[in-house]
Order: sequence, then C-alpha cells, then structure tokens
Amino acid sequence: MKARAWFESIDKPDSRYSLDEVIYTCPKTGSLLQVNHDLELLKQKSAEDWKSLFKKRATTQVHGQISGVWSKKEWVLPDLPEEHIVTMGEGYSALFQSERLNRLFKQADLRVKLSGNSHTGSFKDLGMTVLVSQVKSMIAQGKPIHAVACASTGDTSAALAAYAAHADIPAIILLPAGKISIAQLIQPVANGATVLALDTDFDGCMKIVKQLTATPEIYLANSMNSLRIEGQKTVGIEVVEQMNWEVPDWFVIPGGNLGNVSALGNGLLMLKALGLINKLPRIAVAQAQKANPLYLSFLNEFDKLTPVTAGETQASAIRIGDPVSYPKAVKTLREFNGVVGQATEAELSEASALADLSGLFCDPHTGVALAVLQKLQADKTIRPDESVVVISTANGLKFTDFKTGYHRNTLPEVEAKQMNRPVEVKATLEAVKAAVMSKIEEFKK
Ligand SMILES: *Cc1c(COP(=O)(O)O)cnc(C)c1O
Repeated sequence: MKARAWFESIDKPDSRYSLDEVIYTCPKTGSLLQVNHDLELLKQKSAEDWKSLFKKRATTQVHGQISGVWSKKEWVLPDLPEEHIVTMGEGYSALFQSERLNRLFKQADLRVKLSGNSHTGSFKDLGMTVLVSQVKSMIAQGKPIHAVACASTGDTSAALAAYAAHADIPAIILLPAGKISIAQLIQPVANGATVLALDTDFDGCMKIVKQLTATPEIYLANSMNSLRIEGQKTVGIEVVEQMNWEVPDWFVIPGGNLGNVSALGNGLLMLKALGLINKLPRIAVAQAQKANPLYLSFLNEFDKLTPVTAGETQASAIRIGDPVSYPKAVKTLREFNGVVGQATEAELSEASALADLSGLFCDPHTGVALAVLQKLQADKTIRPDESVVVISTANGLKFTDFKTGYHRNTLPEVEAKQMNRPVEVKATLEAVKAAVMSKIEEFKK
C-alpha cells in the first residue's frame, strides 16, 4: 500500500522516507525532517464532511478513550494500525474565556487554550501519544528498538515516561541536574523510567542524547524527531474547532526548542489546505528574556541563529539557548506574518498573577506568553479589538514553587505587586469577623 504520510527533508522535499524508518535528519543534507501528508487523498473528503466527522469523533472512543489527537488520525498518522495506538485521553482541553480575563488584559476577546490540562500536565502528551504509538508499531514489526530516550527540561520526560510505561517500553531520561521542578522530576521517577541527572544544562543533555540515539536500538523522543510534532499539530485545529471554525486574529505561544510553534503552524496550514478555514491567523512566539535566541534572531530579520547560554528563569521548560527546531520556527513565522517577543522575570510573574485573578492558575510559561501579549498591545502590534488565543503549555500545579515564591515575594528579580498572603487570625468569631470586615472595606474601594 502507498504511504499516506512520510518523512521528507525540510529543504529537499523530493526525497521521501518511511515513517517506519529510524531517522531524525535527512541522510542526504543532514537537515531536519518533516512529516508530510497526501493532501490530494485527504481532499477527496469535503471540508464539511471533515467537520462533521470530527464532531462525531468527539464522542467516539479509541481503546476506551476520547482523544483529541486520534480523533484526527487521518491527518496525523494515517497508516498506523489502530491496535498500536497508545492513548491516555489526551487533547480536547478547555479553551478558557471570561469577561474578567478580557478586562484584566484589556483585550476584547482573549482565550487561553489549557493544553496543560492533560494526563502528565503539559501539551507534550499530544506529541508523545503519537511517537510512542509509532514505536509500539515498529517494535511489533520486528524493529530492534529496546528503549526510547529524551533530553528534557521536565515536561517531555514526564510525558515520555508515562506513555512508555503505558506501552511497556523502557524509557531513558536525561535531565539537567537541579534545573527542573520537583513535580516534573518525580513523574518519570514514579513511572519507573531510567532517570539520569546530568551536571549540565538542557542543551548539554540534548547533545548527549543525540549521540546516544545514534544506534537504532534507542529511539529519540525529542521534537527533533518530527513524529512528535504530528500530535502537537492538533492543538490549533482543536482551538479553531472550539471556536466553531472561526480563526482568531492571533495565537501567542511560548517557545523554547521551537517544535511546538511549527506544530501549531502545520495544523493550521492543513486546515487551510483542506478548505476548513479560509484565512490564517498571525502567530507571536514568546520567549523568556533569559533564554531568547529566537527573539535576538527576529531583531535581525531571522538572518541567523546565534545560540545563547540560557540563564536562570522561572520559565524553566523554555530555558534553551540552542533551539533544535529553529529553522522550522522561522519558516512558520514567515508563513504566518509572525513576530517574537520576550519577557523579563518580573513581567512574566506579574502577567501570570494577573491572569490568575480570573480563575486561571498559570504556569510561568503561560506567564511569558501573557506578558508578551501585553508588550505587543503596548507597541500596537496587537490591537485591543482583535481576538487572541494564548496557548497555555503546562499545568500551574507543576509549578507551585513559582506561585508560592510570588505570593511570598521571594522570587529573584521580582517585586510582587499582586501579592496575596493568608491572614493569620485567632480562632474566635470576633477575630474572624474583624478580618472579614476589613477585607470587605477593601473590596468596596
Ligand atoms: C516544552 C515546553 C515548551 C516549549 O515548547 P518547544 O516546542 O520546546 O518550543 C513551553 N512550555 C512548556 C511548559 C513546555 O513543557
């Protein structure tokens, strides 16, 4: 049977490789690979038929789960035998919206896609369900894969460990020692992965995992492997579906290794190519000032990438100085008339605390995206009447040190302006009443 999806080189798309091959870069040019699909075949179904199929799939189970990724299987991994799907019900996350959030951010229509409301607490589940399913299928075909490995700033390892454990495949995790949150570290430990804490940063771990996975026996699960991105592609598709097939004016997305922004772009391009939407949004990538190589490159019209040594930031999952998927991100930003912004520690912390007042519980990376939104409003790149979707990449519950630090005003480089401390009162009705009355006086002001 002819393949309905394949790997191709990002700069030499005429050479195709099977998704069942263990390759991460083009054997001819050494450049990154991308997954491409037989769009002519997909066009045999009309846009309206795809929409109604996706609507039906929102209540259709795969191995007992409803999955936002596998509901789009034909667009993601069409040739995978369904029996090899490894799913934990990823995707279909909420698109948060509230009048209060709009007011707090002075934006007419601001929505937050909560892709961190997921099994392991980040959007990485969207990618890992696809990658681990593909590995399971390759093992079933007799490929000698003995383990799956990744370098991680925390969330990739949590997702890989969980999905690999679910599929009964050993996982190897390389982490920068002391640079990720306790919650992120304990997830792969609990799932029984081999966790190696290395005395280096993420970029150092990435270098070693590339060498480690040079043997086909250890499969690479980082987003440098473009199979990962195929699942993450569904996030933008899902947002548009949740908006009743309307396209927002802007997406704002935090970026580190820069796989996710190109995934977002790929999903939206596919929607347009297949006629489900007829315009494209603009995309803004948000970086922490302490790890801002894409921002610096943007200032020079993406002339070239100059890697930086990423500094300490609360947004630890995007603390990356030498992003592997830089060429893909630049391509996406050019296609979507994109921009790049950066946020300081103070800016990301305040934006996150402000959004929390609407009922959200923002992780620091979502804080980076919201802070960059504020800066793009200030320089009039984003107008107040435009519709904006912020991609929230992780669950705030993974980052309670950040939240606690903010409300105790102990975060470095941050003077917490919206601090809210528990009030200690004696256990008597009078004392409680006095405390409540003084708060009510404050609310009236
Ligand atoms: C991985 C991650 C990112 C960055 O995604 P990239 O594809 O590396 O740009 C952002 N936020 C969180 C919480 C992440 O885990």
